[in-house]
Amino acid sequence: MLKKSPVLLFFLAAGIVLSGCSQADPDREPEVFDKSDIAMGTVVTERIYSQGEDRTSEVLDLLSQTEHRYLSWREEDSDIGRVNLQAGKGRVPVDGQTAGYLEETLKISEESGGAFDPTLGELTRLWDVEAEDPQIPSPKKIRKLLKKTGYEKIRLGMEEDQDWVELEEGCSIDLGAVGKGVGCDEAAAFLKEDPKVQGAVIAVGGSVLTLGDKPDGTPWKVAVRDPRGGQEELLGVLELEGEHYVSTSGDYEKYFIQDGKRYHHILDPATGRPADAGLISVTVLGENGTVSDGLSTACFVLGKEKGAELLAGYEAEGIFVNQDKKVYVTKGLMENFELEASGYVVFPLSS
Ligand code: AMP
Ligand code: MG
Repeated sequence: MLKKSPVLLFFLAAGIVLSGCSQADPDREPEVFDKSDIAMGTVVTERIYSQGEDRTSEVLDLLSQTEHRYLSWREEDSDIGRVNLQAGKGRVPVDGQTAGYLEETLKISEESGGAFDPTLGELTRLWDVEAEDPQIPSPKKIRKLLKKTGYEKIRLGMEEDQDWVELEEGCSIDLGAVGKGVGCDEAAAFLKEDPKVQGAVIAVGGSVLTLGDKPDGTPWKVAVRDPRGGQEELLGVLELEGEHYVSTSGDYEKYFIQDGKRYHHILDPATGRPADAGLISVTVLGENGTVSDGLSTACFVLGKEKGAELLAGYEAEGIFVNQDKKVYVTKGLMENFELEASGYVVFPLSS
């Protein structure tokens, strides 16, 4: 059982990641740089082991820039903000970064049969599950907004070395379900450029990046939150070596309860209502942050069986927790995952 040291509590309070402390000789070991702050609308927690400079503030700046320049639907001059404003008016030039992330996202939409849909922003705002007095929207309003959604309403292309995006009238893009994973990808690319960085673990909300090694040679430990516990309670711990991208989606993150029923923030694009495939949490390890973040949301909508098929196509691994507190872990991850919470039972899952 993990003891909750002050360091551990610091990481748990901020996100879902925890990492061991280096006990090594200070003459030979890299320095440890820790930072926790807000960026991309979420808590970012960093630990970087480096023999060079402290890069933690630069990572935070990079995350904020990524949001402001490329991803934010709230800002009219981000790439996505401009595309949304120009919906129905033709092609909008965008940065190659935006186009690349959007392409990866649309692939997940296709592969998941539309379970992942980056055009649900209006519906998410209609539900507004975090409002002070949240209401269940009328079926009529839901139907009306559903007509404006659909990933196929987004088109991407390139002309004379310039990427463009075209969006159908009435539609708007919201990359909230991949943004934190994109942040992990940006952080990884930045830290890999610094040869003095030996290892790092960065949590951007529910998406976590591990990079390199810990100086004491032990694996990274990434905590997965207990979906029915408090903020500091763990479902279990993933032990990982080297570079990994871990994202979790759950019905405990944003929700309200009415008449004993939970209404959460992950919507099924087929119904416009909170996804109801029997899961309460999905954790995914994929080839990069964008993919892991997108797949965790998609799998939550698809449910265990179809979700596992989707993961297999990406050679990704996952942990599916269902309403009966059964924890299904793909075979490639069984040895890395240790259950901590009581009341849950782990089963292997073929993906
Ligand atoms: P995540 O926590 O990564 O699973 O992302 C959840 C967020 O993505 C929600 O708060 C919505 O903004 C958005 N979202 C909800 N349902 C979907 C969906 N089916 N596909 C894509 N994005 C979604
Ligand atoms: Mg996601």
